[in-house]
Amino acid sequence: MHDKKENSECSYCGDVLENAVLKCNRWIREKINLELDLIENLNSENIIDLMLVNTENWKKISDYIIRIMKKRGEDKLSR
Ligand SMILES: [Zn+2]
Repeated sequence: MHDKKENSECSYCGDVLENAVLKCNRWIREKINLELDLIENLNSENIIDLMLVNTENWKKISDYIIRIMKKRGEDKLSR
């Protein structure tokens, strides 16, 4: 049986977490909130540096990444 669920498909995430964290449309809202909070735009070059600035940044960014990882895991299981 073919079962295509449109809203569970995501062309960005795939197996590359970085894409989900930095480029995914699904997470764009949370990413913008985080960027407003950090007063920085996140990209693959500065994300680690931003995390290392202080523990508050570390927590904000790692919480964001962990949320995405959890959701990705759930989506994979339900596929
Ligand atoms: Zn995605």
